[in-house]
Amino acid sequence: MDLRNTSRLTTRREMLRMTGGIAGGALMARLFPGALLARPLAYPQQGTAPADPLAATRAQMGATPMETIKLADNITMLSGPGGNVVVLTGPDGKIVVDSFVQPAWTKLKQSLDGMGNGPIKLLIDTHWHFDHTDNNANFRAAGAQILAHENTKKRLSEAHDLLGMHFSPSPANALPTETFTATHKLTVNGENLSMAYVPPAHTDTDIYIQYPRANVLHMGDTFFNGSYPFIDAGTGGSIHGMINAATKSIGMVDARTKIVPGHGPLGDRASLTKYRDVLVTVRDRVQTLKSSGKKVEEVVAAKPTAEFDKAWGGGFMAPDVFVGIVYSTL
Ligand SMILES: [Zn+2]
Repeated sequence: MDLRNTSRLTTRREMLRMTGGIAGGALMARLFPGALLARPLAYPQQGTAPADPLAATRAQMGATPMETIKLADNITMLSGPGGNVVVLTGPDGKIVVDSFVQPAWTKLKQSLDGMGNGPIKLLIDTHWHFDHTDNNANFRAAGAQILAHENTKKRLSEAHDLLGMHFSPSPANALPTETFTATHKLTVNGENLSMAYVPPAHTDTDIYIQYPRANVLHMGDTFFNGSYPFIDAGTGGSIHGMINAATKSIGMVDARTKIVPGHGPLGDRASLTKYRDVLVTVRDRVQTLKSSGKKVEEVVAAKPTAEFDKAWGGGFMAPDVFVGIVYSTL
């Protein structure tokens, strides 16, 4: 699908104005003109399209307060300005997973500096999306190397249009310095970090990071805890892949594992299982309707997520848009 095309029914500018911002993605406009997306990211001046949706989203995400949660003696989770950052500290230096958005750099750096004198050794990107990789260049400037899946480097090197935001190819100093294809192990600070590629799920760049000693698993955006997930079909994501990723992760953890989602509060096996089960139910219902010949508008109108919307529809993805994305990837 050519993401640069705009809908016949509504131009991107009109779409942005109608939905107050990020919802103006051409893909979304093609799927459902008028659908609402991303209610928490609505801009302060309702009805005014920002000149630069990416800058506006960065500013808004960056203004989210940052919370600190201790996962183990030497592992800290920072939550808020664009997902969940995890920091492993110790004599080998700081090993950080994901990086928030650029406007949050100062507070992230302050927080890292407050975790002892060790150097910021390594940043690991869970996938290519900007709310996880936006501070890559700042980490490099602070002395860190950057590790990611090879597809993250590839995707960051390309131009993308996503949810109304335009991404230019990243400069060389914001690209991963080391990549892997299948798995990667790292013995550092008394942990045996285990990373592996997740077959296309949220994107085609996803990895997980396991901290076996502390019994922590960072799932990146293959897990949205307590809300419908965004699935980036433009870079290889699909509902089947999301379900497979969640099922595989459930098999890797026990009841005491601390599971870090890409977005949402710290999870565990029970919350991950609940999330997976919601995805399966929605996928099966949408598949049944699609197989019976229904168009996307008809499937959305049938409200196959209705029973979950109160609990799961208040996050980044509005229910109608989520259903449309699920439909488009089946
Ligand atoms: Zn993402």
